[in-house]
Amino acid sequence: MIEITGLTKRYGDIEAVKGISFTVNDGEILGFLGPNGAGKSTTLNIMTGCLSATDGSVKIDGCDILEDPIEAKKKIGFLPEQPPLYGDMTVNEYLSFVYELKKCKLPKKQHIKEICDLVKLNDVFNRLIRNLSKGYRQRVGIAQALIGNPKAIVLDEPTVGLDPRQIIEIRNLIKMLGRDHTVIISTHILPEVQAVCDRVVVINKGVVVANEKTEDLTLAVSGARKLEAKIVGPQDEVLKELKSISGIRNVEVLGKLDTDSVTYVIESEGGVDIRKPLFFALSRKGWALIGLEGAELNLEDIFLRLVDMENERKVGKRTTGRTMK
Ligand code: ADP
Repeated sequence: MIEITGLTKRYGDIEAVKGISFTVNDGEILGFLGPNGAGKSTTLNIMTGCLSATDGSVKIDGCDILEDPIEAKKKIGFLPEQPPLYGDMTVNEYLSFVYELKKCKLPKKQHIKEICDLVKLNDVFNRLIRNLSKGYRQRVGIAQALIGNPKAIVLDEPTVGLDPRQIIEIRNLIKMLGRDHTVIISTHILPEVQAVCDRVVVINKGVVVANEKTEDLTLAVSGARKLEAKIVGPQDEVLKELKSISGIRNVEVLGKLDTDSVTYVIESEGGVDIRKPLFFALSRKGWALIGLEGAELNLEDIFLRLVDMENERKVGKRTTGRTMK
């Protein structure tokens, strides 16, 4: 559905996007992830025809956004980070205005009504936009992206600034849109990606550093699993013992949460289940394992790992094993 090939963007001396390539399949919800300054907005703006590229191409359903922008733009709707809303218009007036701007040919009243049904705007159809909550305004932003019924929609940071209930509502809406559209969401919130995306493309400093199915991301990035173990025993000796267990790559002390026990974060090599060896090693020593649960890598961990991996790749010495701290 969307094909990005060798996309490069230079702002003067700054190369913000450095020849990135990836595709987004029909009906897929893709998370586009990266730290601040990674090049996400630049890529999205080029993809939606709002900015020209220095080099490379973007094809939307076979149409090149630079060579055939009018046709390509009909196939893609965009919700920018700051939605272009007019507070003095009602929802109805604003959506009619966007309909005219996009020179939409679908039956007007019916089309706008269908979109309002879909994104649940009927209750506020005749209200002024400036009087709507942030959650409803975001729905209006999504509604304008859907005018013209584009096959693909791009949402830049769609849940920023919303309260937890609004976040859940917008995420559910995005999942629903994913049934009939190809959706790209730019975000820096990992749980958002985990909640709604089928696949994730991560960029850092203008290059793609990961392109994975969401469920494979943490494993692919770290090659490891993390566990939090609550253990009663002398901290220094426990730490030494844990580090000696084969299959454990790294151990860190998370903290002493009560008088007896210490919680450790244990990172194992990919594919190794260390729970049994851990249990037996501790029981041999007479130390009690009183809690064990999975600890997800957070976004910060993932970015740091990806940057590490990229640096190792660049110097041509990527290793499979890591030294223990
Ligand atoms: P992100 O959306 O991931 O935060 P951006 O695409 O906004 O990243 O920016 C990527 C890089 O390009 C940053 O270093 C940013 O400072 C730079 N940049 C973005 N827009 C401009 C511009 N109009 N002029 C000069 N540099 C820019």
